Amino acid sequence: PGPQLPFDPEKKTIVVLGSGWGATSLLKNLDTLDYNVVVISPKNFFLFTPLLPSVAVGTLNPRSIIQPTRYMTRHKRRQVSVIEAEATEVDPINKTVTFTDTSEIKGLISTTTMSYDYLVYGVGAEVQTFNIPGVQQHACFMKELGDAERMNREFMDCLESAAFPGQDEKEIERLLHMVVVGGGPTGVELSGELHDFLEDDLKMWYPELAGKIRITLVEALPSVLPMFSKQLIAYTESAFKESKIDILTKTMVKEVKEKSVVLQKPDKSIVEVPCGLVIWAAGNKGRKLTQDLMAKLPADQTNRRGITVDDYMRMKGADGIFAIGDCTATSYAPTAQVASQQGGYLARMLHLMARQDSLQDRLNKLVKAKADLGPPVVLPDGAVDEHQKLQNEINDVQKQLSKVKLRPFHYSHQGTLAYIGSDKAIADLPFMNGNLATGGVATYLFWRSAYLSTLFSLRNRTMVATDWAKVRIFGRDVSRE
Ligand code: FAD
Ligand code: NAD
Repeated sequence: PGPQLPFDPEKKTIVVLGSGWGATSLLKNLDTLDYNVVVISPKNFFLFTPLLPSVAVGTLNPRSIIQPTRYMTRHKRRQVSVIEAEATEVDPINKTVTFTDTSEIKGLISTTTMSYDYLVYGVGAEVQTFNIPGVQQHACFMKELGDAERMNREFMDCLESAAFPGQDEKEIERLLHMVVVGGGPTGVELSGELHDFLEDDLKMWYPELAGKIRITLVEALPSVLPMFSKQLIAYTESAFKESKIDILTKTMVKEVKEKSVVLQKPDKSIVEVPCGLVIWAAGNKGRKLTQDLMAKLPADQTNRRGITVDDYMRMKGADGIFAIGDCTATSYAPTAQVASQQGGYLARMLHLMARQDSLQDRLNKLVKAKADLGPPVVLPDGAVDEHQKLQNEINDVQKQLSKVKLRPFHYSHQGTLAYIGSDKAIADLPFMNGNLATGGVATYLFWRSAYLSTLFSLRNRTMVATDWAKVRIFGRDVSRE
């Protein structure tokens, strides 16, 4: 027997995989009166990723940037089933999804299979290590909430170990060298946040270590932040220089060891640099589940970057699967902005599809009723017979049906923002058919208000604003859990 769900056999069933940006935006906008809705995700919450680096340095409490999925679904018009489990297989032919409870505590049943009419596939991506030796074992990632919590613990551990009495100067230098790999927005924002911690708190809590910490940002390409305009790249580089964050461009990390990182310099020479902590922000790749699903549709799914979808977010070659967000390969960047717009779009599409279905259903019934009446009867005085009444209704439904138009997805870019530390942010904003590039403290205030207003609930907004105020007044919490 399958799980007991609030199931209406009259309605189609939508299974949503994931509770990230794409899936959450879909759920927020979906009219649950139209469908049976089931959400399956190994995390029973939504994570506001843009503020993850702030959690890593203790500016924000981890709980402040997550929202339980059930908090949101409880406000829906019809009950949504939220299942904490990991999808392990999608069968696009028989239209089923198999999922497993991967948490520590399990009941008697921990794996089951469910059928869907529509599958919304929004499982995101996972960290790309390029199989570089030592990355998986020794580096901290910056993708999930647990990654930020781990980094916070290890970073504090480096400080406490460096402060251990009698520690050798060279060892102190090593322990206080933080290497961030990847000069994309994640690596840059994290470096900026790390710098803030050192500036604001280290001097106060660890005065003997202040001035000894080094941050190095390593990037394989010729510059950091390739998606930003040239002047903002230059602005960030000079701001980092001022903050004493070293940027090594055209430099590749070749190996991560327990106490060092191996770099290939622009002249191809290899150096081993001692360090206390390596944070890996070198990009993402598709999940195994996604690769397996694509392999089942080899004729249509050949893009190594991810799932190929059409303009309506339908997975090519599959019946009833929609894919949104980072798991797809589209012309858009894999960002929260894109994923959430795709989720919102799909919710509107699914509503229109439900309306189309119900009108078509009604039309079929009317056509059948008319056929069942037999040949038309001519009534005296031009009175409308039953045939004519049904034909009028058929015409009316056909007219309504023709008005239901499914339009392709259109992305509206609202700009790109990044925090670079020292109360400065950079922003590329669309402005009068052009671009407005701005950086500095005013942009930082804009960054803060933009993120605060994008947080999904008043509860989270209050928690984040309170954390920011607490840090201003009392400094960051340096206790290590
Ligand atoms: P995700 O949000 O990653 O959600 C995927 C969901 O799928 C998760 O809930 C996950 O638990 C679930 N899942 C995973 N495996 C399975 C499975 N087997 N079965 C079921 N569910 C599964 N973008 C911006 O636009 N602006 C920013 O400022 C920004 N800052 C960022 C900062 C950081 C540190 C990071 C890491 C990313 C940032 N991004 C930003 C990028 C943004 O977070 C992603 O583009 C966005 O999360 C993609 O949304 P998604 O729904 O596709 O995937
Ligand atoms: P990314 O893919 O944008 O950047 C990773 C960087 O790591 C690349 O520049 C790559 O050249 C470098 N790299 C890879 N391997 C390396 C190696 N071995 N040695 C040195 N450098 C190496 O990844 P990201 O920064 O995590 O961003 C992922 C997505 O999320 C992007 O689409 C980004 O726009 C989005 N994002 C946006 C924001 C924002 O808007 N503020 C913040 C974070 C992430």
